[in-house]
Amino acid sequence: MSTETAYRTCPLCEAGCGLAIELDGGTVTRIRGDRDDVFSRGFLCPKGTVLGHFHDDPDRLRTPMVRVDGELRPAGWDEAYEAIADGLGRVWDAHGREALAMYLGNPMAHNLDGAMFSRTMLRSLSPGAVFSASTVDQRPRELASGLLYGQSGTIPVPDLDRTDYLLLLGANPLVSNGSLATAPDWPGRLEALAERGGSLVVVDPVRTKTAEKADRHLAIVPGTDVLFLGALVTALAEHPAVDPGAQPDHFAGLAAVVDGLSACTPESVADRTGISAAATREIADRLATTERAVVYGRIGTTVTPFGTTASWLIDVVNALAGSLDRPGGSMFTTPAAGSATTRGTRSDGRSRRLGSRSTRVDGLPVALGEHPAAAMATEILTDGPGRLRAMITVGGNPVLSCPDADRFDTALESLEFMVSLDCYVNETTRHADVILPAPSHLQKPHYDVALLGLAIRNVANYSPAILPMDDGADREWVQLARLALIGLGQSWDDAAVAALDDEVASRAIGGALADAAAPDGIDRAEASAVVGTRNGPERMLDIQLRTGPYGDWFGARPDGLTLDQLIEHPHGLDFGALEARLPDAIRTSSGDVEFDHPDLMADLTRVVALLDEPTAPMVLTGRRTLRSNNSWMHNMRVLVKGKPRCTLQVHPDDADRIGLADGGAARVSSTSGTVTAPVEVTDAIRPGVVSLPHGWGHDVEGSRLSVAAEHAGVNSNILTPADLIDPLSGTSQLTGIPVDVVPA
Ligand code: SF4
Repeated sequence: MSTETAYRTCPLCEAGCGLAIELDGGTVTRIRGDRDDVFSRGFLCPKGTVLGHFHDDPDRLRTPMVRVDGELRPAGWDEAYEAIADGLGRVWDAHGREALAMYLGNPMAHNLDGAMFSRTMLRSLSPGAVFSASTVDQRPRELASGLLYGQSGTIPVPDLDRTDYLLLLGANPLVSNGSLATAPDWPGRLEALAERGGSLVVVDPVRTKTAEKADRHLAIVPGTDVLFLGALVTALAEHPAVDPGAQPDHFAGLAAVVDGLSACTPESVADRTGISAAATREIADRLATTERAVVYGRIGTTVTPFGTTASWLIDVVNALAGSLDRPGGSMFTTPAAGSATTRGTRSDGRSRRLGSRSTRVDGLPVALGEHPAAAMATEILTDGPGRLRAMITVGGNPVLSCPDADRFDTALESLEFMVSLDCYVNETTRHADVILPAPSHLQKPHYDVALLGLAIRNVANYSPAILPMDDGADREWVQLARLALIGLGQSWDDAAVAALDDEVASRAIGGALADAAAPDGIDRAEASAVVGTRNGPERMLDIQLRTGPYGDWFGARPDGLTLDQLIEHPHGLDFGALEARLPDAIRTSSGDVEFDHPDLMADLTRVVALLDEPTAPMVLTGRRTLRSNNSWMHNMRVLVKGKPRCTLQVHPDDADRIGLADGGAARVSSTSGTVTAPVEVTDAIRPGVVSLPHGWGHDVEGSRLSVAAEHAGVNSNILTPADLIDPLSGTSQLTGIPVDVVPA
């Protein structure tokens, strides 16, 4: 092989930066930002440079692992699938299909194979419970969107490049690179905001890197964003520039929301939130009077007991300020690969209600078809009909990333059978009976179907694989297809995989042609022939691009988009700035944005009650660091070198009171467990709050992450109790957890 440069989108986080990857004889020698990428223009963060290290990591699995005599050992692919069929068959025979649970980790959200074939696998295996990373992160935002707009994927994003006033709640995009708002180069975009005279205000218990760059930082009490948002609603409603009754016809019920929040004034919430009434009124004034202003909230607003309600109120504030669906405000993407917002019509929507399903033991809500991760341990450990006895994990490391971690670890140990699709023997997969290895990122094509649907510009970028698969290895979509066939009780040989793949593609074409957006007269067989030179996820992506809003509809619109066109444009295609999409994108039964949805309005009683709840003396919050995202990154020496990052941040006043010293150790306890962590004293954190990053705790027996073990850190999720959740979405509370802190 010769020296060459390959271009691809970084799959490691939601920003989706373009990378220029230099290869010499099949070895990655250097990774830079791709200056010609239509979206990222050369930006990348330190994580983007590690794809070569990850590919070459000796700890990364290249062959399946099968447990023999209690020990995970390398095995052949046939042996691994046989073991899976045997193990699942035993569980199903003894306990029925409902005894199987699935966990879909965060990497599946950024994975073309997973995006295209997870649903096929789930349908065939029909597990009793599906869990995912969403209920430790974003489910409240998705649920609020489902209730307001009729589709959970109809998530507004801040129009960063055109706004003049940006209010960030619980978000630190200079470190996390954004979330549910796909935008490479947040640093550059925030600098551009300042250069055009705009303002940035950050509301966060911690003076984060983003807060340091802001014009104003307000250190809110963790978990009280919902009160601050309620106060913004009432302050906006009183503002002379705002008329709640003069909103677009398709904004239904805003006046009712204002009425329901009448107890939340800037003055009444000030003590609980720690934000003065004057500051709240000034922010409301700027939102009301700045033509291009937007409120954007992320993880700090969703991982609280009021995650869904806070997500809803963010849209209410944007609507009252005249910012929803307006340039420079909070807008909706028109994604190239299509989405629920570009299929169907406003008239064929349906309204959602909460409470139709709940978990077996604790009655926690099953929202959008998924069980809350907080329920996993209990559902596995509690005897009775419907007990979970087997589990398949696809990516993710829930022992480190999900609540009540110690108990969940014990629960996995008790399973009768467990399968993992993963790159490593990590803290979770060490419990598996069979592990199917995922290829490295460079060995598979990439198109971020989910996250390009949340981009702040309408862009599309496809990346072919640039390194060959390991000998005899299955790509993930083939693994998922074989699991699906095992679920159907069929042969899982190559011919059966090909037949299933054809069936999936045919269904996708049939669905697209039945959609209201489809031009008349397209023949299904001819459409199949047009995309028939490809198979697997690439064929599915081609179908989605062709039938998306810019698509060629299998030749019916000859200038339209195809996968071939994207391949010809390795730096991506830009379809322009976001455009107004309402009311067409609404899919509620009324055809309106249902701001006064009864399930949301009913939660206002709880919001008002929060005003009288005492503030806990000491609470725990999480944090992100630039060099860490998924826990496997702690096995990249280039990312973990330097001073330890898994520290307990403590305000100097608290450190003095408790007797903690910088560099010393503290014992932190909650109702679910205790950890001992090194102390970092910093005035960046609000008094009464301590912070730990998550994804650490690599010192457990059986895990095979040799570099991570040298930088073990502590597992912050030992401290997150499973019973603290947002009762609407089932999402775990990961911020504002009451803790005791003492010197260790
Ligand atoms: S910001 Fe995200 S997408 Fe960009 S290089 Fe870093 S990890 Fe990759």
